[in-house]
Amino acid sequence: MPARILNGARIAEDIRNEVAEGVRLFQAAHGFPPGLAAVLIGDNPASTIYVRNKQRACLEVGILAETFALPATTTMDEALALIRRLNEDPRFHGILVQLPLPPHLEERRVLEAIDPKKDVDGLHPYNAGKLLAGAPVFVPCTPAGVQEILVRSGYSPEGQHVVICGRSNIVGKPLAVLLMQKAKGANATVTLCHTGTRDLPNITRLADILVVAIGQPRFIKAHMVKPGAVVIDVGINRLPSPTQPGRTVLVGDVDFEGVAERAEAITPVPGGVGPMTVAMLLVNTLKAARLAMHGEV
Ligand code: NDP
Repeated sequence: MPARILNGARIAEDIRNEVAEGVRLFQAAHGFPPGLAAVLIGDNPASTIYVRNKQRACLEVGILAETFALPATTTMDEALALIRRLNEDPRFHGILVQLPLPPHLEERRVLEAIDPKKDVDGLHPYNAGKLLAGAPVFVPCTPAGVQEILVRSGYSPEGQHVVICGRSNIVGKPLAVLLMQKAKGANATVTLCHTGTRDLPNITRLADILVVAIGQPRFIKAHMVKPGAVVIDVGINRLPSPTQPGRTVLVGDVDFEGVAERAEAITPVPGGVGPMTVAMLLVNTLKAARLAMHGEV
């Protein structure tokens, strides 16, 4: 039987409505809205679209959002100076730096310059450490979105064997740490795979929940998935359209058609994890604003 499609766009809408209500209460209590500053350096077309979408999503729920766009020639000192200025600006409770940065800029140094209290992407070592220690403040948005889509769809990771393909600092690693915590909506047995993993299909076939974030179009085929597994496809890959010359299509890291014949449930691309990532950014920005005002959320 074809898999149930997990509609991330619809779940993200529920979350956005919850955030909008929280923003309304915040605004009523303080007389100003939560604020997010987005830093966009260079002219990567995908990054420009992502930042525009994030800014639009903020404005829709009443969060003040401003984009600070710097040219690709920006120096390290200029990038750090902007971050320091935003750290001090009380209008912005959250700061996000859109990745990737132009190659001459040191990503780590830029991310570490963000005030951890404004680090709504959860990529500062302070927040990574808090997550590891089981006392998270800001969980990176994509891992948080994966957890939410699972829990809100009735597939809590608790007690499940979760296999994650990909160990990046923004998706795979923090997701593994998040789902292994002794906590509600987590408490999973986690296996983390990467390019050094031997015999990947034998491991992915053990997964009750398989999360794929490797950036390889349609890499995970049906034979790599256990019948009845829940499959979360984080990948976003742009390929030439097979039907419209000169156009492109978005595909995930999972061979959707084949795997949907075998899985119990699967996220589509687009319309799966992508909208959840944006929704969790809104959640984190509201949280940052509450933290700034009350010291708690
Ligand atoms: P990275 O390129 O930073 O990391 C990819 C990871 O996948 C690495 O750990 C790499 O292993 C591993 N990998 C690559 N190929 C294989 C393979 N054949 N077998 C096993 N492991 C492999 O990617 P990101 O985490 O940044 O992104 C992953 C995908 O998710 C991309 O398509 C990206 O566009 C998408 N993405 C989607 C988001 C969303 O909101 N939906 C948000 C962020 C990313 P190794 O470490 O050994 O090199």
